[in-house]
Amino acid sequence: MGQPRDTTAATGAPSNERFLPADVLAQWPALREKARWIYERLLAFYGMPDWRPHYPPLEELIITTLAQNSTDRNALKAYQQLRERFPTWEDVLRAPVEEVIEAVRPAGLGNQKGPRIQAILRKVWEEQGRFDLSFLGEMSTEEAEAWLTAIKGVGHKTASIVLLFCFQRPTFPVDTHVARVSQRLGIAPPRASTRQIRAIWEALVPSEWYYPLHLNLIRLGREICQARRPRCERCPLQPRCDYYRQQAASPGAEETQS
Ligand code: SF4
Repeated sequence: MGQPRDTTAATGAPSNERFLPADVLAQWPALREKARWIYERLLAFYGMPDWRPHYPPLEELIITTLAQNSTDRNALKAYQQLRERFPTWEDVLRAPVEEVIEAVRPAGLGNQKGPRIQAILRKVWEEQGRFDLSFLGEMSTEEAEAWLTAIKGVGHKTASIVLLFCFQRPTFPVDTHVARVSQRLGIAPPRASTRQIRAIWEALVPSEWYYPLHLNLIRLGREICQARRPRCERCPLQPRCDYYRQQAASPGAEETQS
């Protein structure tokens, strides 16, 4: 298990300070210690997640796009249907958009995702002359992320999943589960954006923790810290959860966090 890297400069501030809310910076040393505790507690509870079988970068990008506002299961179902209907990426790109929309319908939001997938393929083809994203591995993380997020509908979450999973780059993807759990725990302020939450985690923990911590936070969010009714009585993070402490102090209080 790695030690937290020293993200603090001589001033005591993290190196990506400009992305972080002032109230986070004010409690930085305590947050770093809490982040380590969370990481270790989740490892003890869930274990080290397996490096999940992942796909080549272009396939990962398409699947992650399909998974937006959907479940992994439905995204994979849509992906399989897309591949069965169109054997090659060129077939997908040349197909009438209505047929692509129909093929990806199991993932939901087909009217957005169909054109989005064709836009991804068009950009890759026009710039690379082949359906392959391996060139991103030659870029810096910032350049690769900028290239990906220049595609309409590809945000920093999707880009960071591709860069972390396929290129082992130091990016911390923040989805709805990671955001909710981070806010409830008090790692991120209630109104922090997902971009800010990502910056907070990236500065708080060493990059070799990103993958297991990301997956364990998602698992906690799906299984225990659910949006509507968190099962705090089963949660390994309860002893240091701000939300739980507030609820215990004023039972029945309305949740204000997202
Ligand atoms: S104690 Fe409750 S609110 Fe806090 S992280 Fe666990 S399940 Fe979520």
